[in-house]
Amino acid sequence: MTAYAPPVQRLITELSKLPGVGGRTAQRLAFHLLRLSDEEAFALADAIREVKEKIGLCERCFNLADGPICRMCADERRDSDVICVVEEPSDVISIERTHEFRGRYHVLGGALSPIDGIDPEDLKIAELYQRVESGPVREVVIATNPTTTGEATALHIAERLRESAPEVAVTRLASGLPVGADLEYADELTLGRAFAGRRAV
Ligand SMILES: [Zn+2]
Repeated sequence: MTAYAPPVQRLITELSKLPGVGGRTAQRLAFHLLRLSDEEAFALADAIREVKEKIGLCERCFNLADGPICRMCADERRDSDVICVVEEPSDVISIERTHEFRGRYHVLGGALSPIDGIDPEDLKIAELYQRVESGPVREVVIATNPTTTGEATALHIAERLRESAPEVAVTRLASGLPVGADLEYADELTLGRAFAGRRAV
């Protein structure tokens, strides 16, 4: 039995599914939205609808894109022979902020985690091998998160590339990143240093 009218309860339920939003915060946000003018509230609703309708994955690197390929892949000035491998599209933004990288990206869509049932075929790993093997690629920088699953993913990729593409340098970000945390929580300077100090794996 809920004290809210069903539409209000529905809004609270949907908001509470957002990361980091508990029931209490969801309730506060819902009441905030109810206080907004129609115009303000619909602007938020329209923004959500628009990203879902217009944003998809880049067919080359699986970054977010508003067309067949993303802006990084479309930018001819970027080196196409260096590929930085990340877990999520948000990691692309973190690395771009460091201004240390002028190559292309490859977004895996997560990290390997057998316990959670995330195997290589659930990620864009085969697509990465295909890109590297059809080259020309000089270096693959593995910038998965410094977490257990991120490290396991990095090792998995490095081992496979050593066999299938021995001429390609495979590097990993230098240590100094907060262990166990996602890349997006590293500050620009730390991440920039880790990037500049990357080494072979
Ligand atoms: Zn792309």
